[in-house]
Amino acid sequence: MTQTITVIRGDGIGPEIMDATLHVLDSMNLGLSYEFADAGIVALEKHGELLPAATMESIRRTRIALKSPLTTPVGEGFSSINVELRKRFDLYANVRPAKSFPNTKSRFASGVDLVTVRENTEGAYIGEGQSVSEDGETAMLTQKVTRRGSERIVRYAFELARRTGRKKVTVVHKANILKSTSGLFLKTARLVAQEYPDIECNEMIVDNCCMQLVMRPEQFDVIVTTNLFGDIISDLCAGLVGGLGLAPGANIGSDAAIFEAVHGTAPDIAGQGKANPCALLLAAAQMLDHLGKCEEAERLRRAIVQTLEEKDSLTPDLGGTGNTMSFAQAIARRV
Ligand code: ATP
Repeated sequence: MTQTITVIRGDGIGPEIMDATLHVLDSMNLGLSYEFADAGIVALEKHGELLPAATMESIRRTRIALKSPLTTPVGEGFSSINVELRKRFDLYANVRPAKSFPNTKSRFASGVDLVTVRENTEGAYIGEGQSVSEDGETAMLTQKVTRRGSERIVRYAFELARRTGRKKVTVVHKANILKSTSGLFLKTARLVAQEYPDIECNEMIVDNCCMQLVMRPEQFDVIVTTNLFGDIISDLCAGLVGGLGLAPGANIGSDAAIFEAVHGTAPDIAGQGKANPCALLLAAAQMLDHLGKCEEAERLRRAIVQTLEEKDSLTPDLGGTGNTMSFAQAIARRV
């Protein structure tokens, strides 16, 4: 059966890494068909809006999008198209795996294999109730955490652990200081954890978690946390294993899921064939897992690892002399 996905080629290096990713997916004969849709600067130029209704309809229809990075110009109505997409589709779970890869410039070339599950719809990150006093001396922000929001993200983390054979969930919080918001998150997490006796659960205060991640990242398996902490921790984890060029992310809701590279549009190297397509390829592997094509997802990951190991056609950020498409072709040969 053919599975249709929405493909957003994006801005900056977006089209280059998407073409490379689709080249690899096509070589795998997965029965995928693509519905191309615009967002970002490209959409603004073509259709006069950053997030056209046709793009929203396509995602609503296919329920799955593979998305390249987008530029959100200042003063166009959104603070971020990505945040807007998360809001409109209620994509409550941001899932960011971080795994050691061979031949990457990283502090941990082995031993790291963790997933950060970040609540995506609540908390300070949403910027609710932002105001600055008239004299400019005081700024305010509301931080809202709900039992429902906490419960569904913690449940998602435990279900992910169970489904993927992971053994431990670490609940990261700051309930000792933020007694109301982080306190509610922690209390809810403890109740959900009781329903998963097969998965070990521990708790960690966010500042200690950052230190532990840098010193002994191998102790972590699944991390679940609130929005702003998750934003910071997931980039920290990407930094442990070779930076944003290798960091994929998924935004998952009940009705739709969007898979993306974590990095931005990299305007400094756009159009030069220098962009590393790995992050988007790894996001595509997450998408295949989500579609139940877990074996194919693993095949894709193995091909990426093998290509890195054999240093075949790597892009300049990985110390190679290849380009975006030759790197993708090297992966496609191994997949
Ligand atoms: P944006 O405003 O869209 O976030 P940015 O340049 O501020 O763009 P990134 O796009 O994340 O932020 O880029 C940060 C740095 O990392 C840049 O020097 C960029 O060239 C590099 N970079 C990002 N993604 C890649 C990639 N896939 N391959 C190679 N280098 C990359």
